[in-house]
Amino acid sequence: MLQQVRLLEWLLEVDTEATAATYRNVPSDQDCTCAYCRNFRAAWRTLPAELLQVLETLGIDPAKPLDITEFWENEDGTHFYMGMYNLVGRIVDGDDYRTVSRKSGQIDLHPLVENAGIGFTGDVDFGRGFPTPILQAEFMADVPWVLGEKP
Ligand SMILES: [Zn+2]
Repeated sequence: MLQQVRLLEWLLEVDTEATAATYRNVPSDQDCTCAYCRNFRAAWRTLPAELLQVLETLGIDPAKPLDITEFWENEDGTHFYMGMYNLVGRIVDGDDYRTVSRKSGQIDLHPLVENAGIGFTGDVDFGRGFPTPILQAEFMADVPWVLGEKP
């Protein structure tokens, strides 16, 4: 059932139960097996609590991003990642980050803590078995390197 939820700068209409049920059917190891993606799947519990809380409020399983990209290693040894999650819902009020980012020419995410942020768009890249309406959450965060091997 779609329910309105006020979250950060957005008013969203989301179905957290349908989202959580869909994540339960997504295999956790179906995605890319490169070291960067395996590191993220091993380290997602270290994401900022503010980010994890937003994801979990929406019924998203943080261990199962739709897509994840590592951009660079920071001086402190953490790695800067951006990634996406699907959820069931739509934006009622607030910015669609893709619309805003196209205007500004930058990735315009809502800052949560230093080097971490989140945004939402209805312009989804992949449906991946989610019932409609599908919303895409995109985040950025620094993630420690927890694998024994180097990338
Ligand atoms: Zn990968």
